Amino acid sequence: MKKIQMVDLTGQYEDIREEVNKSIQQVMETAAFINGPEVHGFQKELEDYLGVKHVIPCANGTDALQIAMMGLGLKPGDEVITADFTFAATVEVIALLGLTPVLVDVDAETFNINPEAVRKAITPKTKAIVPVHLFGQCAPMDELLAIAEENGLFLIEDNAQAIGATHTFKDGSKKMAGTMGHVAATSFFPSKNLGCYGDGGAIFTNDDDLAHFIRGIVNHGMYERYHHDVIGVNSRLDSIQAAVLRAKLPRLDDYCSRRREAARKYNKAFKGNSALILPKTVNNCDGICPTCDCHVFHQYTLRITNGKRDALAAHLSEKGIPFGIYYPIPLHRQKAYTDPRYREADFPVTNQLVKEVISLPMHTELDDDQIEFITATVLNFI
Ligand SMILES: *Cc1c(COP(=O)(O)O)cnc(C)c1O
Repeated sequence: MKKIQMVDLTGQYEDIREEVNKSIQQVMETAAFINGPEVHGFQKELEDYLGVKHVIPCANGTDALQIAMMGLGLKPGDEVITADFTFAATVEVIALLGLTPVLVDVDAETFNINPEAVRKAITPKTKAIVPVHLFGQCAPMDELLAIAEENGLFLIEDNAQAIGATHTFKDGSKKMAGTMGHVAATSFFPSKNLGCYGDGGAIFTNDDDLAHFIRGIVNHGMYERYHHDVIGVNSRLDSIQAAVLRAKLPRLDDYCSRRREAARKYNKAFKGNSALILPKTVNNCDGICPTCDCHVFHQYTLRITNGKRDALAAHLSEKGIPFGIYYPIPLHRQKAYTDPRYREADFPVTNQLVKEVISLPMHTELDDDQIEFITATVLNFI
């Protein structure tokens, strides 16, 4: 059996080697390192794939979130509501801009932000909600869009983990993750579902004025050469990364189905075990419906409910099976983000999840022998 990896990027590279090598070489030969044709080509292709009017590439996903918030004109003192259970980048940029992060609890089954908790956290200072489509599945967008509209709030999607996922609204209509709010941010970090070979990110929006404003912000606030109209940043996707992304984008749907296929096999093996809670898909399809694209399984995350999560983790390490604990500490308890307003009683779910979650190897190259070995090892231990 091949050595099991948490993410297997070399296997994926083999499949696109020729194409990627050729375009990287072309970038070097034409020396169009910044804003070259590869970047513009990728931008257009991603706009078409997502069905969104504007993609603005930038240097990484954290920048994308920050720039989205700058683009919306959020000002110090404005409150921005986001999930307590996510990667720190989301709350980091809110704090960095001098905005006030307001962390709220999540749903125990989907791990995504809880709309009722969002509603309760709204004050006259609230300006935006940042749902994170965690682990590859969209946050409850019907409810969140309604809350945003009723309260005149911006909705910024953190889509770093769910590119390629589709959300089905209650009326049956569908939209892709990252195209539902006022603006969205994504990351092309190598291990993300659409990853490049370094850092990369992008902002998406359907709003022409906002897109224009953001295109200036990413480029030192310039709309006309050497005229700096607003305070901007320097955040660019380089051409070599764009070349990699152009090779991968046409394969993204296939990558996502391969991840779903692995999740389906995990689910099948784990189903019925009382010490395990399987990841829930919003469509209640259990990851088993063949056409379902509601979940792109950036992570396959189990909850271990018999108190043995850490012991299982140690056991997996012994057996050479990598795993991840996403996330071990709620953001409201991180030193940088504590706030006297937070009360432990407001975060029962996150406080529980940090003790129970474990993410198993998940990537496009997992084979049946590996999945069989992983599931048998987990089940034998549990
Ligand atoms: C990866 C990630 C980011 C940050 O992306 P980078 O490209 O690493 O800056 C932001 N939010 C979430 C939820 C992420 O998973």
